[in-house]
Amino acid sequence: MIDVDRILGRAHELAFPRYPGTPGDERAMALVEGWLGETGLEVRRQPFTYDVRPAFRALRLLLVGAALLLLAAGLLASTAPAVAAAVLVVALGAGGTFLGWAPWLERIYARQGPTATANICARRPATAKPRLSLILMAHHDSKSHNLTMPVRGAWTVLALIGALIVGVGVVWSWVAARPPVWPGLAGGVVAAVALLVLATLRSGNLSPGGVDNAGSVGVLVELARILPARAPADVDLWFLSPGAEEDHMVGAMRWLDAHAGALTDRPAWVLNLDGAGIPGRVVLLERFGFGRRFSPRLSRLARRVARREEIAVRGVLLPPAMGIDAIPFAHRGLPALTLASGSLGRASMSVHSAADVADNLDRTAVGEVARLAVGMAFELMVKEEAPRP
Ligand SMILES: [Zn+2]
Repeated sequence: MIDVDRILGRAHELAFPRYPGTPGDERAMALVEGWLGETGLEVRRQPFTYDVRPAFRALRLLLVGAALLLLAAGLLASTAPAVAAAVLVVALGAGGTFLGWAPWLERIYARQGPTATANICARRPATAKPRLSLILMAHHDSKSHNLTMPVRGAWTVLALIGALIVGVGVVWSWVAARPPVWPGLAGGVVAAVALLVLATLRSGNLSPGGVDNAGSVGVLVELARILPARAPADVDLWFLSPGAEEDHMVGAMRWLDAHAGALTDRPAWVLNLDGAGIPGRVVLLERFGFGRRFSPRLSRLARRVARREEIAVRGVLLPPAMGIDAIPFAHRGLPALTLASGSLGRASMSVHSAADVADNLDRTAVGEVARLAVGMAFELMVKEEAPRP
C-alpha cells in the first residue's frame, strides 16, 4: 500500500533550494499544497512572518562572550583558580542554557518581521465526537550553512576540549604548589578560537534539502493518501508541513499558537518526520538538549511496531543546539516523536549544504520509515490508550 516510488518522485521534485521567505520556498509550498489537495483533504495555508535576526544576534553575543570568558578563565587558571573556576562555570552555564532549548527562549521569535512564509496543513476532521488528535508532520523548508556539518562538529568538539583543558589547569593549580601556566593558556586560546569561528555561522539558500527534508515530505503526502480512509471517525487527523523549521522552528511555534485550543481539550499525539531516507537504520530522535526525553510512550510504541514489522531501529539523542519541530510541541506538553534514518555518512554529512540532493535518499530507508509511521499511526488511532491532555 505504501508507494515508495511515488515518495521518491515527489522528493526529487521538491529538492531545490527553499530557504524560508525565498521564491524557492514559495514554489515548494505550492507543490506541497497541491499534493495534499490531491488526496481530497481540506488544505489550509497559515501565513506568518517573523524576524530571526534577534536570535542570531543573541547567539553571536553568547558565543563571543563565552570565548572571552574561557580565555579569561584560562589566563587566571594558574594564579587565581577559584576565580577561573567561577568564570568557567558561568561560561558553560550560559552556553548550556541557550543551546539546550527552553520554552522561555521561544519569546525571542514572537514578533513579526521581514521573513514571510507559511505552514501548509491538511486536515481530516473527526466526524464523530473527537476522541483524540493525531498530528503527522514534516517541514518543507531547507537551508545551507557557511560551516558544513562536519566542520561545525569539529569546532564544537575543539571548543569543548579547550574548556576541558582549562578545567584541568584549574584543578592542577589547586593540587600543585607551582602549577604550569600552559594548560590554562592553551585551553583558553583553543576554546576561544573555536567559539569565534562558530560565531560566524550564517544560514543561506544553497541546499536542495533532499534528505532534509524532501524525503520526509514525500512520506507525509503518502501518509495523507493512505491514512484518512482508514482512520476512525472520532480521530482528528492532521498532516502538517511547517515552514521555517530551519529558522529555529518558528513555523511549528506559530501553528501551535493558532491551534492550542483544539489540542488541549483532547489528547494529542505527534509524529514528526525529519531526515527520513538517509541510508541506514531507522532512527528515533528520543531526547533533545541535555538529555530531555520527548515521549517514553511513543518511543516504546515505535519499538513495538518496529519489532512486529521487522524494522531495525536506533534511539538517538539530538545534541544541544540542534533544533527540530518536535521541540516546540514537547515544550507544550504534547508527546512527540521524530522518525529519521541513517548514520554518519555522505548523506547525513551533506545536510545543510548544496550536496544534500535527493539522490542521497535510500529507498529501503524511506520505505521503512513510511511503514513504521503507518504502523504507529494505526496503533495510536485504534489501540493505544490516549494520554490525558
Ligand atoms: Zn530538517
